[in-house]
Amino acid sequence: MPSECVKVIVRVRPFNQREKDNGSKTCVNVHENNDQKQYTYDYVFGPETPQLQIYQQTAFNLIESVAEGYNGTIFAYGQTGCGKTFTMIGDAQNESLKGIIPRSFEQIISIINNNSDQNKKFLLRCSYIEIYNEEIHDLLSKDVKQRYELKEGQQGVYVKDLNIPILKTLQEMEKYMTLGAQNRSVGATAMNKESSRSHCIFTVYIECSLSDEKGNERITAGKLNLVDLAGSERQSKTQATGDRLKEATKINLSLSALGNVISALVDGKTQHIPYRDSKLTRLLQDSLGGNTKTIMITAISPSDFNYEETLSSLRYASRAK
Ligand code: ADP
Ligand code: MG
Repeated sequence: MPSECVKVIVRVRPFNQREKDNGSKTCVNVHENNDQKQYTYDYVFGPETPQLQIYQQTAFNLIESVAEGYNGTIFAYGQTGCGKTFTMIGDAQNESLKGIIPRSFEQIISIINNNSDQNKKFLLRCSYIEIYNEEIHDLLSKDVKQRYELKEGQQGVYVKDLNIPILKTLQEMEKYMTLGAQNRSVGATAMNKESSRSHCIFTVYIECSLSDEKGNERITAGKLNLVDLAGSERQSKTQATGDRLKEATKINLSLSALGNVISALVDGKTQHIPYRDSKLTRLLQDSLGGNTKTIMITAISPSDFNYEETLSSLRYASRAK
């Protein structure tokens, strides 16, 4: 796979109040084309970078190709509290603070609305799932506790009985995002889960049918996965034991499987891509590698208080490079 299909991005968030009160110092420096740098990425964004710029320089092109029938995946990776959700969702009600997901919706809807070709018809659908402890839950279903199974069919790997409603407007997309977020927190309470330990995948399916003068129909189908990963922090720090530790191990399993898949793809030398090692990588198999585009955004803290975790996030991201 040509490595330009995987882009690795690092985003440093600003100091938070606690770090300011602690008097912590910055331990991250962003250099542009400076030869002292230790790691290299496709883009590195400092604390002042606005949401719009992140979106334009990362997601925009990927969304365009999804509308043309390719699959694409955008991940937010990093330690809890470093800006994954801020980057992916942000404040959807505030124009300047909107994250990648609401901006992607707008782009997709505008591509469809601006289509003036009578022979071209679009069908949009979406799904929203959560993977917690290697178990899959449908965030658009009424029963947040129900476990869903991964199946393999002619179409590839899919989640059996998953809700994939049709969408027509921006408002509907927003409605499903909100419903999913509500169900996520209801589920977290009901099952005593810690939401920072789950992976959330919002998927937009774009089908386009194009008919020629003879009435022949050609259908292209693209899929956009928007993934807010579980916190990457090492669990030893939080002194997890028993069930919590078992859970933590499984979460790290999905994250390390993802790291292995991406580095195998980027490396390009190995024939065997270890997709089967986790639910996350199995599910995303058709959207990672091959003819697809992947963006990994690693969110880090600027503070020396988080030095170890930041270094480990930077290593993970650099392995993917
Ligand atoms: P995560 O999802 O990685 O646990 P969050 O996205 O919830 O982290 O971010 C933690 C806090 O830091 C939130 O209050 C968020 O608004 C703030 N934050 C994160 N990144 C930024 C940023 N780049 N600019 C401003 N505030 C940010
Ligand atoms: Mg979060």
